[in-house]
Amino acid sequence: MTTIQLDDVSKVYPDGHVAVHHIALAVDDGEFHVLLGPSGCGKSTVLRMIAGLEDATHGELRLDGVRVNDVGPRERDVAMAFQTHALYPQMTVAENIGFPLKMAGLRPRVVAERVEEIARLLHVDDVLDRRPSRLSGGQQQRVSLGRSIIRSPRLFLMDEPLSNLDAHLRIEARSEIVRIQRELRTTTVFVTHDQEEAMAMADRITVMRDGLVIQTGTPTELYERPADLFVAQFLGSPQMNVMVARVIERGDGSALEIGSHTIPITRTPREGHVCWSSIVGRRIAVGVRPESLTRVADGELLASVESTESLGAEQLVHALVDAPAVELTATGIEISHGRESPITAFTGAHDAVSLWEPFALRVDTAAIHAFDLETGQALAA
Ligand code: ADP
Repeated sequence: MTTIQLDDVSKVYPDGHVAVHHIALAVDDGEFHVLLGPSGCGKSTVLRMIAGLEDATHGELRLDGVRVNDVGPRERDVAMAFQTHALYPQMTVAENIGFPLKMAGLRPRVVAERVEEIARLLHVDDVLDRRPSRLSGGQQQRVSLGRSIIRSPRLFLMDEPLSNLDAHLRIEARSEIVRIQRELRTTTVFVTHDQEEAMAMADRITVMRDGLVIQTGTPTELYERPADLFVAQFLGSPQMNVMVARVIERGDGSALEIGSHTIPITRTPREGHVCWSSIVGRRIAVGVRPESLTRVADGELLASVESTESLGAEQLVHALVDAPAVELTATGIEISHGRESPITAFTGAHDAVSLWEPFALRVDTAAIHAFDLETGQALAA
């Protein structure tokens, strides 16, 4: 049983660089918690502070409620896995996995039994006599994991462990890691910049940006109720379409003016989404995920098709809408002076799509997101 708590934690490196800025983080017992964010946002620094490899400059770190700021990495009893496999090339798989127990002075028979058990769990029990050079990338990954988990540590900390694998193996390895974690139920913190990986693996995700924690939640919560434009656009591929819009009153209800188009709000917003009548008259950034757009002949949103991409089962359509575009930059939100927002939408694999022709879309108005144009914060119920 292990919980992790970070209270008001900051990390300033000796050169003065503030890598982590007053963050709070709580990881539940047995949870698979992913730290997600672009490169350089402070994820590894947080992980290394949990491991005890870096000191926190400010704030408190607790494991199971006990302050561990001054406890060394060994005493914290965590297993850390990195992207490099770092297996001993001259040892067999069995020797590699059993190495930590051998070093701890356990009897060979006990080590062998435990190695068998772990190898079965990792599905490498048929290659125990091989050397690492004769394993596939995925097998090497699992053996490396085996060496970390054989000690039954109280925490697993993983820093982009899959980034050296090719796309196919990555997907296989990520489901393996999740399966193993679910069986062992060891509290795990996993760092990645890959939103798809995070969505696929996490019980909960914490999104970081510029040393700050932006939002924590389950993959579905973050996807459906992002706290701000950054989270909204970081999660999901293709990313959420964002345009400038104005909320207006239209006799029987509210509507959105997007460029020259008027979209009546015909459906009740999803739980947690903004109540449109409360922001009538306001200019906002409206967010619509590609899957919330459906091509229909009488669709209210007309876009002009720029290009199409075949995804096999469907086509991805890139088009332009005649509304100012909203762009999130390092310094804030920029609104384009031109009146063209790039958007993406899906259509059937065999649907005819003509370039530069109007493409009529219906917007699922229950699934629209609204954001403040200055702060990027989600406008929520
Ligand atoms: P991430 O894991 O999200 O890519 P890191 O935690 O590795 O980010 O780094 C966060 C920031 O701190 C980056 O700007 C990085 O350059 C900086 N940084 C990391 N380690 C050091 C260090 N030892 N000294 C100074 N700056 C560092």
